[in-house]
Amino acid sequence: MNAMSTDTLRTEVAIIGAGPAGLLLSHLLAAQGVESVVLETRTRDYVAARIRAGILEQSSVDLLTEAGLGERLAREGDQHRGIYLQFPHERHHLDFVDLIGRSVWVYGQTEVTADLVAARDADDQQFFYSISDTALHDVDTDRPYVTFTDAEGAPRRVEAVAVAGCDGSFGPSRGAIPGGSTWEKTYPYAWFGILADVAPSTDELIYAWHPNGFALHSMRSESVSRLYLQVEPGTDPASWSDDQIWDELATRLGHGQDGWTLTPGPVTDKSVLPMRSYVHAPMQHGRLFLAGDAAHIVPPTGAKGLNLAIADVALLAPALTDLVRKKDARLADAYSQTALRRVWRCTHFSWWMTTMLHRSGDPFDEQLQLSQLRWVTSSEAGATGLAENYAGMPFA
Ligand SMILES: Cc1cc2nc3c(=O)[nH]c(=O)nc-3n(C[C@H](O)[C@H](O)[C@H](O)COP(=O)(O)OP(=O)(O)OC[C@H]3O[C@@H](n4cnc5c(N)ncnc54)[C@H](O)[C@@H]3O)c2cc1C
Repeated sequence: MNAMSTDTLRTEVAIIGAGPAGLLLSHLLAAQGVESVVLETRTRDYVAARIRAGILEQSSVDLLTEAGLGERLAREGDQHRGIYLQFPHERHHLDFVDLIGRSVWVYGQTEVTADLVAARDADDQQFFYSISDTALHDVDTDRPYVTFTDAEGAPRRVEAVAVAGCDGSFGPSRGAIPGGSTWEKTYPYAWFGILADVAPSTDELIYAWHPNGFALHSMRSESVSRLYLQVEPGTDPASWSDDQIWDELATRLGHGQDGWTLTPGPVTDKSVLPMRSYVHAPMQHGRLFLAGDAAHIVPPTGAKGLNLAIADVALLAPALTDLVRKKDARLADAYSQTALRRVWRCTHFSWWMTTMLHRSGDPFDEQLQLSQLRWVTSSEAGATGLAENYAGMPFA
């Protein structure tokens, strides 16, 4: 890093956002000898504590492992062969390993982030946390730069060969791409999620269709469960008591059926997550490249948000390495088009899982959903399609 003046830095890639996309990008670039600066509006503690996604596709696990981030994941992550799909009086196991030879892993986004931050710290990565006023400049030239106010209130400028917009759905990077197209769908339901200090009542995730609405039994570890209920958008988490939550989960997940029981426990976190699909194209303009939620949002039903961020970065890191090291822009120029193919596949799968499993209130939809669930759980072709999408296609 060359300090050109007290407040201007020159680096190779300026990365906006220290979520999984930004952190992983800085890690993969460093492995190729490419220097970056990571800019983050939140505090370091806030980023580390954020609770979000929890399922990793096989390709994400493989990439993290190859990048030297697999040690704790292999020790503490929980490999799942598949999922359970449930509708009234029936629970079916879809075994992805038997169907397609691939599996998924339960390893929280909080853990992925912690491993990445530890690795970047060990590598002396330069971070600026708690910044404000982030602005992108001259991204359509070969000397783009980012300005911001640092945690002490001093104005700063980072000049770079390229800027990576990894700043999530509310960051400024997407707005720095002129024109382009956006596709958006807001779903008429939300997820009420809880974390509970209790051992999961299931060995693998249960996705349940129920006349009262969708429910999901997921987990974070051997002693922490993560569960969700379909609720109306705008529901206040405080309006449900813990007993009401557990009663409704028991009903929708089929407590007592075929001897299965749901064990309640102390609720440590409650939140309501709106559900939407969003895609922005192109994901690139000049020397600005978007990755992760900055370019696309999926509803969480397909467990794709974090995995898509990782898949984008798997493409972007070699593209930026070639651009910086060899002045070869071929991969960089192809980045948006290549990434969007997987983005749309995952967008479709997430929409499909969401609309198959959530109550819309329309009796005709309901019969179609049940027919679809019976097909997916009784036909090898149907089950294989779900397995291939859920466990994820190999990275390009
Ligand atoms: C509440 C919630 C629950 C979720 N649950 C699931 C789930 O169960 N399953 C699933 O698959 N996915 C889930 N997701 C989606 C998943 O977490 C995201 O897809 C994933 O975090 C994407 O990573 P990212 O790095 O692209 O974006 P983010 O994780 O959003 O990181 C972007 C970073 O950019 C920073 N930033 C924003 N603006 C600026 C700025 N102006 N300057 C500098 N930095 C900035 C942000 O503070 C943030 O740290 C959830 C998302 C949310 C919001």
